[in-house]
Amino acid sequence: MSVSPIRVTIWNEFIHERTSAATKHVYPDGIHAVLAEAIQEQLGAAVRVRTATLEQPAQGLPPEILAETDVLTWWGHAAHDKVSDEVVARVHARVLEGMGLLVLHSGHASKIFRRLMGTSCMLRWREAAERERLWIIDPSHEIVDGLEGEYFELPHSEMYGEFFDIPTPENVVLISWFEGGEVFRSGCTFRRGKGKIFYFSPGHEVFPIYHDANVRRIIANAVRWAAPCGSPYFGRGRRIEPPLSPILTEHRVDESLHDR
Ligand code: ZN
Repeated sequence: MSVSPIRVTIWNEFIHERTSAATKHVYPDGIHAVLAEAIQEQLGAAVRVRTATLEQPAQGLPPEILAETDVLTWWGHAAHDKVSDEVVARVHARVLEGMGLLVLHSGHASKIFRRLMGTSCMLRWREAAERERLWIIDPSHEIVDGLEGEYFELPHSEMYGEFFDIPTPENVVLISWFEGGEVFRSGCTFRRGKGKIFYFSPGHEVFPIYHDANVRRIIANAVRWAAPCGSPYFGRGRRIEPPLSPILTEHRVDESLHDR
Protein backbone atom coordinates (compact mmCIF):
# COMPACT_ATOMS: atom_id res chain seq x y z
CA MET A 1 0.00 0.00 0.00
CA SER A 2 1.42 3.37 -0.91
CA VAL A 3 0.47 6.23 1.38
CA SER A 4 0.65 9.73 -0.03
CA PRO A 5 2.79 12.16 1.96
CA ILE A 6 1.20 14.56 4.46
CA ARG A 7 1.19 18.03 2.85
CA VAL A 8 2.41 20.46 5.49
CA THR A 9 2.34 24.26 5.20
CA ILE A 10 4.38 26.16 7.77
CA TRP A 11 3.04 29.68 8.18
CA ASN A 12 5.12 32.36 9.88
CA GLU A 13 4.47 36.08 10.17
CA PHE A 14 8.30 36.45 9.69
CA ILE A 15 8.76 39.84 11.31
CA HIS A 16 11.05 39.50 14.36
CA GLU A 17 13.63 37.60 12.29
CA ARG A 18 14.02 40.69 10.08
CA THR A 19 13.79 43.40 12.71
CA SER A 20 15.48 41.97 15.82
CA ALA A 21 19.16 41.09 15.95
CA ALA A 22 18.50 38.65 18.80
CA THR A 23 15.93 36.72 16.77
CA LYS A 24 18.03 36.85 13.63
CA HIS A 25 20.90 35.32 15.58
CA VAL A 26 18.80 32.28 16.58
CA TYR A 27 16.70 31.99 13.39
CA PRO A 28 18.70 33.64 10.55
CA ASP A 29 16.45 32.18 7.83
CA GLY A 30 13.26 32.51 9.85
CA ILE A 31 11.43 30.34 12.36
CA HIS A 32 9.58 28.72 9.45
CA ALA A 33 12.85 27.45 7.96
CA VAL A 34 13.82 25.74 11.22
CA LEU A 35 10.36 24.23 11.68
CA ALA A 36 10.43 22.95 8.08
CA GLU A 37 13.83 21.37 8.67
CA ALA A 38 12.63 19.78 11.94
CA ILE A 39 9.53 18.22 10.40
CA GLN A 40 11.42 17.05 7.33
CA GLU A 41 14.21 15.53 9.43
CA GLN A 42 11.76 13.62 11.67
CA LEU A 43 9.22 12.46 9.08
CA GLY A 44 11.25 12.19 5.85
CA ALA A 45 9.27 10.90 2.87
CA ALA A 46 6.08 10.82 4.93
CA VAL A 47 5.71 14.59 4.48
CA ARG A 48 5.88 17.25 1.79
CA VAL A 49 6.71 20.55 3.47
CA ARG A 50 6.29 24.11 2.22
CA THR A 51 6.51 27.45 3.97
CA ALA A 52 4.34 30.55 3.73
CA THR A 53 4.73 34.03 5.20
CA LEU A 54 2.57 37.07 5.84
CA GLU A 55 4.12 39.34 3.17
CA GLN A 56 3.43 36.91 0.32
CA PRO A 57 0.40 37.35 -1.96
CA ALA A 58 -2.84 36.46 -0.17
CA GLN A 59 -0.72 36.51 3.03
CA GLY A 60 0.82 33.20 1.94
CA LEU A 61 -2.47 31.32 2.19
CA PRO A 62 -4.47 31.61 -1.05
CA PRO A 63 -7.32 29.08 -1.49
CA GLU A 64 -5.24 26.81 -3.75
CA ILE A 65 -2.48 26.41 -1.15
CA LEU A 66 -4.94 25.75 1.66
CA ALA A 67 -6.78 23.24 -0.52
CA GLU A 68 -3.50 21.34 -0.84
CA THR A 69 -2.62 21.53 2.86
CA ASP A 70 -3.26 18.60 5.19
CA VAL A 71 -1.63 20.22 8.23
CA LEU A 72 -0.97 23.93 8.79
CA THR A 73 1.41 25.19 11.49
CA TRP A 74 0.99 28.75 12.77
CA TRP A 75 3.59 31.07 14.32
CA GLY A 76 2.66 34.71 14.86
CA HIS A 77 3.31 37.37 17.49
CA ALA A 78 3.70 40.97 16.32
CA ALA A 79 1.14 41.02 13.51
CA HIS A 80 -1.93 39.08 14.62
CA ASP A 81 -4.11 42.04 13.64
CA LYS A 82 -2.53 42.23 10.17
CA VAL A 83 -3.89 38.80 9.24
CA SER A 84 -6.99 39.49 7.18
CA ASP A 85 -10.41 38.27 8.23
CA GLU A 86 -10.66 36.66 4.80
CA VAL A 87 -7.61 34.48 5.45
CA VAL A 88 -8.88 33.63 8.93
CA ALA A 89 -12.27 32.58 7.49
CA ARG A 90 -10.53 30.44 4.88
CA VAL A 91 -8.32 28.67 7.43
CA HIS A 92 -11.29 28.21 9.77
CA ALA A 93 -13.34 26.55 7.00
CA ARG A 94 -10.45 24.24 6.12
CA VAL A 95 -10.02 23.17 9.76
CA LEU A 96 -13.72 22.25 9.95
CA GLU A 97 -13.25 20.23 6.75
CA GLY A 98 -10.43 18.27 8.35
CA MET A 99 -7.15 20.18 7.92
CA GLY A 100 -4.96 19.77 11.00
CA LEU A 101 -3.71 22.93 12.75
CA LEU A 102 -0.68 23.31 15.03
CA VAL A 103 -0.74 26.60 16.91
CA LEU A 104 2.69 27.44 18.29
CA HIS A 105 3.73 29.69 21.20
CA SER A 106 2.39 33.26 20.80
CA GLY A 107 -0.07 31.93 18.23
CA HIS A 108 -2.37 31.55 21.25
CA ALA A 109 -3.43 35.16 20.58
CA SER A 110 -3.90 34.73 16.82
CA LYS A 111 -7.25 35.50 15.27
CA ILE A 112 -7.61 31.94 13.99
CA PHE A 113 -6.97 30.28 17.37
CA ARG A 114 -9.32 32.64 19.20
CA ARG A 115 -12.01 32.08 16.62
CA LEU A 116 -11.69 28.32 16.86
CA MET A 117 -11.65 28.36 20.67
CA GLY A 118 -14.30 31.03 21.24
CA THR A 119 -12.48 32.43 24.31
CA SER A 120 -9.82 35.13 24.80
CA CYS A 121 -6.98 32.53 24.83
CA MET A 122 -4.96 34.96 26.98
CA LEU A 123 -2.51 33.93 29.70
CA ARG A 124 0.18 35.19 32.10
CA TRP A 125 3.73 35.68 30.84
CA ARG A 126 7.23 36.73 31.90
CA GLU A 127 10.39 36.89 29.85
CA ALA A 128 13.15 35.98 32.31
CA ALA A 129 14.98 33.19 30.43
CA GLU A 130 13.95 30.81 33.21
CA ARG A 131 13.94 27.02 33.23
CA GLU A 132 10.83 25.24 31.93
CA ARG A 133 10.10 21.62 32.85
CA LEU A 134 7.53 19.95 30.60
CA TRP A 135 5.80 17.03 32.27
CA ILE A 136 4.25 14.36 30.05
CA ILE A 137 0.87 13.74 31.58
CA ASP A 138 -0.62 11.58 28.82
CA PRO A 139 2.08 9.03 27.97
CA SER A 140 -0.38 7.13 25.75
CA HIS A 141 -0.66 10.02 23.31
CA GLU A 142 1.12 9.72 19.95
CA ILE A 143 2.22 13.36 20.24
CA VAL A 144 4.78 12.24 22.87
CA ASP A 145 5.77 9.09 21.00
CA GLY A 146 9.49 8.39 21.41
CA LEU A 147 10.14 10.85 24.23
CA GLU A 148 12.13 9.42 27.10
CA GLY A 149 11.52 10.02 30.78
CA GLU A 150 8.64 11.63 32.62
CA TYR A 151 9.59 15.14 31.61
CA PHE A 152 12.13 17.17 29.68
CA GLU A 153 13.54 20.62 30.29
CA LEU A 154 14.30 23.77 28.35
CA PRO A 155 17.07 25.76 30.06
CA HIS A 156 15.76 29.16 28.95
CA SER A 157 12.14 29.80 28.17
CA GLU A 158 9.53 32.51 28.29
CA MET A 159 7.09 31.76 31.10
CA TYR A 160 3.51 31.18 29.99
CA GLY A 161 1.30 30.65 33.04
CA GLU A 162 -2.23 29.84 34.11
CA PHE A 163 -4.88 30.98 33.95
CA PHE A 164 -4.93 30.18 30.23
CA ASP A 165 -8.35 31.14 28.94
CA ILE A 166 -9.13 28.22 26.64
CA PRO A 167 -12.12 25.88 26.59
CA THR A 168 -11.48 22.52 28.31
CA PRO A 169 -9.13 20.67 25.91
CA GLU A 170 -9.84 17.23 24.53
CA ASN A 171 -6.50 16.11 25.97
CA VAL A 172 -3.83 17.84 27.98
CA VAL A 173 -0.67 16.04 26.89
CA LEU A 174 1.93 18.24 28.60
CA ILE A 175 1.98 20.53 31.62
CA SER A 176 4.86 22.93 32.18
CA TRP A 177 6.41 24.04 35.44
CA PHE A 178 8.54 27.17 35.48
CA GLU A 179 11.46 28.09 37.70
CA GLY A 180 9.53 31.13 38.90
CA GLY A 181 6.68 28.97 40.20
CA GLU A 182 3.92 29.09 37.59
CA VAL A 183 2.38 26.13 35.77
CA PHE A 184 0.82 25.97 32.31
CA ARG A 185 -1.10 23.56 30.07
CA SER A 186 1.62 23.60 27.42
CA GLY A 187 0.39 20.85 25.09
CA CYS A 188 -3.37 20.64 24.48
CA THR A 189 -5.51 19.01 21.79
CA PHE A 190 -8.91 20.09 20.49
CA ARG A 191 -11.27 19.03 17.71
CA ARG A 192 -13.42 21.38 15.68
CA GLY A 193 -15.59 19.92 12.90
CA LYS A 194 -13.42 17.18 11.40
CA GLY A 195 -10.20 19.05 12.16
CA LYS A 196 -7.65 18.32 14.87
CA ILE A 197 -5.85 21.16 16.62
CA PHE A 198 -2.75 21.04 18.82
CA TYR A 199 -1.60 24.03 20.84
CA PHE A 200 2.07 23.81 21.91
CA SER A 201 3.49 26.70 23.93
CA PRO A 202 7.34 26.51 23.83
CA GLY A 203 8.97 28.61 21.10
CA HIS A 204 9.81 32.19 22.07
CA GLU A 205 11.61 34.05 19.27
CA VAL A 206 14.88 34.79 21.11
CA PHE A 207 15.48 31.33 22.61
CA PRO A 208 16.68 28.42 20.40
CA ILE A 209 13.71 26.26 21.40
CA TYR A 210 12.92 25.00 17.89
CA HIS A 211 16.45 23.55 17.79
CA ASP A 212 15.65 21.33 20.81
CA ALA A 213 15.37 17.63 19.93
CA ASN A 214 12.34 16.92 22.15
CA VAL A 215 10.46 19.96 20.88
CA ARG A 216 11.17 18.95 17.27
CA ARG A 217 9.98 15.44 17.97
CA ILE A 218 6.72 16.68 19.50
CA ILE A 219 6.00 19.01 16.58
CA ALA A 220 6.64 16.25 14.03
CA ASN A 221 4.50 13.79 16.00
CA ALA A 222 1.73 16.39 16.15
CA VAL A 223 1.86 16.82 12.36
CA ARG A 224 1.30 13.09 11.97
CA TRP A 225 -1.47 13.10 14.58
CA ALA A 226 -3.29 16.10 13.07
CA ALA A 227 -3.25 14.81 9.48
CA PRO A 228 -6.77 14.19 8.18
CA CYS A 229 -8.12 10.64 8.42
CA GLY A 230 -11.46 8.94 8.95
CA SER A 231 -14.65 9.30 6.92
CA PRO A 232 -15.85 12.21 4.75
CA TYR A 233 -17.10 15.34 6.51
CA PHE A 234 -20.72 16.38 6.03
CA GLY A 235 -20.65 19.58 8.00
CA ARG A 236 -23.46 21.40 6.26
CA GLY A 237 -27.01 21.02 7.48
CA ARG A 238 -29.58 19.92 4.95
CA ARG A 239 -33.22 19.04 4.89
CA ILE A 240 -33.95 15.38 4.13
CA GLU A 241 -37.19 14.98 2.25
CA PRO A 242 -38.47 12.38 1.51
CA PRO A 243 -37.27 10.19 4.42
CA LEU A 244 -34.85 7.31 3.89
CA SER A 245 -37.56 4.86 5.05
CA PRO A 246 -41.34 5.38 5.46
CA ILE A 247 -42.55 7.33 8.48
CA LEU A 248 -46.03 6.31 9.62
CA THR A 249 -46.96 9.15 12.00
CA GLU A 250 -49.21 11.85 10.76
CA HIS A 251 -47.87 15.31 11.42
CA ARG A 252 -48.79 18.50 9.73
CA VAL A 253 -45.85 20.90 9.30
CA ASP A 254 -46.30 24.63 9.59
CA GLU A 255 -43.95 25.54 6.76
CA SER A 256 -43.98 29.19 7.71
CA LEU A 257 -41.86 28.34 10.76
CA HIS A 258 -39.02 27.20 8.47
CA ASP A 259 -39.18 30.04 6.00
CA ARG A 260 -36.78 32.85 6.60
ZN1 ZN B 1 7.24 34.78 23.19
